[in-house]
Amino acid sequence: MTTVAHLINGEFVTNVGRTAPVFNPSLGEAVRQVALADQATIQAAIDAAKAAFPAWRNTPPAKRAQVMFRFKQLLEANRDKIAAMISEEHGKTIEDAIGELQRGIENVEYACGAPELLKGEYNRNVGPNIDSWSDHQPLGVVAGITPFNFPAMVPLWMYPLAIVCGNCFILKPSERDPSSTLFIAQLLHDAGLPKGVINVVHGDKTAVDALIEAPEVKALSFVGSTPIAEYIYSEGTKRGKRVQALGGAKNHAVVLPDADLDNTVNALMGAAYGSCGERCMAISVAVAVGDQVADKLVEKLLPKIAALKIGAGTSCGLDMGPLVTGAARDKVKGYIDSGVAQGATLVVDGRTLSVAGHEQGFFVGGTLFDNVTPEMTIYQEEIFGPVLCIVRVGSLEAAMQLINDHEYGNGTCLFTRDGEAARLFCDEIEVGMVGVNVPLPVPVAYHSFGGWKRSLFGDLHAYGPDGVRFYTKRKTITQRWPQRASHEASQFAFPSL
Ligand code: NAD
Repeated sequence: MTTVAHLINGEFVTNVGRTAPVFNPSLGEAVRQVALADQATIQAAIDAAKAAFPAWRNTPPAKRAQVMFRFKQLLEANRDKIAAMISEEHGKTIEDAIGELQRGIENVEYACGAPELLKGEYNRNVGPNIDSWSDHQPLGVVAGITPFNFPAMVPLWMYPLAIVCGNCFILKPSERDPSSTLFIAQLLHDAGLPKGVINVVHGDKTAVDALIEAPEVKALSFVGSTPIAEYIYSEGTKRGKRVQALGGAKNHAVVLPDADLDNTVNALMGAAYGSCGERCMAISVAVAVGDQVADKLVEKLLPKIAALKIGAGTSCGLDMGPLVTGAARDKVKGYIDSGVAQGATLVVDGRTLSVAGHEQGFFVGGTLFDNVTPEMTIYQEEIFGPVLCIVRVGSLEAAMQLINDHEYGNGTCLFTRDGEAARLFCDEIEVGMVGVNVPLPVPVAYHSFGGWKRSLFGDLHAYGPDGVRFYTKRKTITQRWPQRASHEASQFAFPSL
């Protein structure tokens, strides 16, 4: 069985220590293994990044950007290969994998604007013969820890921007689907990135803890589940690091009686069941305003769920593949069991799905619950599977209260034709990313991505303008060149105009 290696200082490194199996979830079998970094391996990556930093920091931003232009071309040239790698280990469909890669490439395009993004501000004559300007300087060695569900896109949220800002980066991708992430990072070297500026180390808690504890690592970007996000935020900030830690979600779509129901149902199908529900922006709760809306939603969703095309992600023309691991499948089935036990109406049951020729695959079919209430575990917790819950409420205000009371605040969406209702929703909802008739309001690369409440720990969102702020520290310089003949007396009062 081949081993997915670390990439340190431009070289592949396979340590002989611990490994973890990497599965093809459509087959339900391990296809390779991945090295799990120990502390010494993490230190080697830190040393490489630290050594590369002085030269990279002083490389003109326009030259750094040129690497990103070439990187973008290589990503596009390797699109199908990367999509196949993602699909093999994650299970998502090829079309979905291409979509995630494209959204990742948009972040590379944004990073190509480095010279413009890093422009400071300048004022002449802030005082007599005194000029002042600000500068955005890199932090040094920074690290990213990423989840399994977007092995290409989420790392691309982080390192292109961190690198063009002049930092050196250590990426610790998910150990569950590491191959595409590693391949993509390697393309950066083909694009001309100097050795040590990007390093990829695989691993689990041991690797993450070593990154948290290392004083050389000045900032941590994390995307994953909320308990780990909170852990990394508190442990990282305790050590004086900058941390942005994006966590889990429970995204509600509110459906008003005036919504175009056919379009709403089509949107809900993709947002709930695309990528088998393994998206942090997936819609997992549909809040129907009024029983009539709820009844119609059930009636229209039922045949579409039954018609979902489910199979091995690597085949084309499918709607949904398997879940990522056997453990993920069992967890999702456990949530469905709990929904039944706690009294929700199970309209469509995905637990018994078997895909011909892939009987050992980690499949769960599209599942629909009606009459879900806020006390139920399936309402409170993130299921991260193909399960849509319908909650019935009497008004828009009640729907908004429900969302505002939930511990997560990543994404939400309102389906309506009523502009006044939409404006109220956008103003008052306590969620970081809001869609109006847009089910997955994932911000484009020149905005920033982030939830509220327990969906994000930290102050700055991921990528876009917030990403530039996160990966740089501001320095403000005030400068005077005294005139040769002048003699200035000491000034003991605080300087002012
Ligand atoms: P996860 O939290 O299990 O793992 C994320 C990363 O943390 C991985 O690299 C993993 O190796 C590492 N990790 C796992 N356990 C750890 C521990 N005990 N100590 C230190 N590090 C540890 O998340 P996942 O299952 O890979 O991804 C799914 C989760 O990510 C979902 O909750 C989803 O909502 C969330 N997510 C959030 C966003 C967002 O932008 N908010 C985006 C994508 C995914």
